[in-house]
Amino acid sequence: MSFSHLGLSDKVLAAVAAAGYQTPTPIQDQAIPHVLARRDVLGIAQTGTGKTAAFVLPMLTMLEQGRARARMPRTLILEPTRELAAQVEESFSKYGVNHKLNLARIIGGVSYDDQDAKLTRGVDVLIATPGRLLDHFERGRLLLTGIEILVIDEADRMLDMGFIPDIEKICKLVPFTRQTLFFSATMPPEIQRLTETFLHNPVRVEVSRPATTVASTTQVLVPSAAAPEKKREVLRKLIRSAAGLKNGIIFCNRKTEVAKLHRSLVRHGFSAIALHGDMDQRARTTALDAFRNNEVTLLVASDVAARGLDIPDVSHIFNFDVPHHAEDYVHRIGRTGRAGRSGTAIMIASSADSRAIAAIEKLIGQKIPWQGGDHAAAEAPTERHEPPRAPRERHAPRERHAPRERPAPPAAATSPHPVVSPRGNNEPRQAPSERPNAHLPAFILRPARLKAT
Ligand code: AMP
Repeated sequence: MSFSHLGLSDKVLAAVAAAGYQTPTPIQDQAIPHVLARRDVLGIAQTGTGKTAAFVLPMLTMLEQGRARARMPRTLILEPTRELAAQVEESFSKYGVNHKLNLARIIGGVSYDDQDAKLTRGVDVLIATPGRLLDHFERGRLLLTGIEILVIDEADRMLDMGFIPDIEKICKLVPFTRQTLFFSATMPPEIQRLTETFLHNPVRVEVSRPATTVASTTQVLVPSAAAPEKKREVLRKLIRSAAGLKNGIIFCNRKTEVAKLHRSLVRHGFSAIALHGDMDQRARTTALDAFRNNEVTLLVASDVAARGLDIPDVSHIFNFDVPHHAEDYVHRIGRTGRAGRSGTAIMIASSADSRAIAAIEKLIGQKIPWQGGDHAAAEAPTERHEPPRAPRERHAPRERHAPRERPAPPAAATSPHPVVSPRGNNEPRQAPSERPNAHLPAFILRPARLKAT
């Protein structure tokens, strides 16, 4: 099957050939003819499936007719993050080499003036994050009544980031008659409701079961104690021993942990850079470019900052933290094993993570093996200094799956120097830092000396 039967224009077909693509991916194959027929499309697909080209290629074909007017963009693409907006713009430039279209990217964190100037010139394709788009609209710099096609990309991430009210507002500002293309990797109830309200008789295109992981990615769990310094130690060993490590993304749950881990890795001589939401746009772009150009090997990132980034050929994903939302796991490991390449996804887990891991396994429909086999997890000691506990509600507010029983992970099973029991049996002894009361300051454990009176 080739691109030629999809109904794309000659200019677009030439650009696709120049990009080196020979066959459409399943989402492109299924969605493009419907987009060209002006149907609303509900695409359930994760990044890495070729979904960007699934909307960009037919949009380019349709935009060949008509012209843009000042302050009245013809098409609007909503993206949850600045990086994704930048990526979509790059796709338009790449696939639109044979077109003379005006593109504008309206994102937060940069000056309004340049964006204003672009809007005034007339825009064929407006790529925006919801907040900044509404800012421009409310300042009267923008009319949305000329929108012919509205694309809502990564809708489930919009939900996670609290953008749904903004999306609803924008959907009401664009003409009722526009065509809507809606993409989401998963379909939680809030997203389902949104599609029922704003899509008209959509064609549903689902390229894989929601939230499935890529088969070419090897997944593994690595046990660790829960303390961040212990996890950092485990991570360093993993990086040093990772087979075929070309480059890797390390995911943390919190921005503060991203910054801390990045500093620690650099201190230990690793080539690493950080990417998190508190960095300004210039720093984020610099970090991303350095990683893309292989100037650094490791990118330490938070979910929001790294969502949907198109970084081809990442060999390893390290989950420093088990994500709070099971869906995030799917998005994280979707950064590797792309376009038929093989990848490795390693997740560091402590006994406190068992419920979150069960939720992930339920979502992806498979068990993630422990490094060294499940018997390693079953036989190894539990962390006595931090008894297993259910994660607090705020850790997993959207997971309502019943936790599956599984053995708690060992604390020190990854140590290259196994600690031998003094009793001479096979039961491993706890490393000093894993001993009972290790979390208490030493002076509290010191026997009290009573002064003779
Ligand atoms: P996306 O899912 O849109 O993030 O795309 C993932 C990657 O696949 C991007 O690097 C695209 O350049 C690439 N890609 C998209 N369509 C094709 C295709 N038909 N053949 C080969 N690569 C593609």
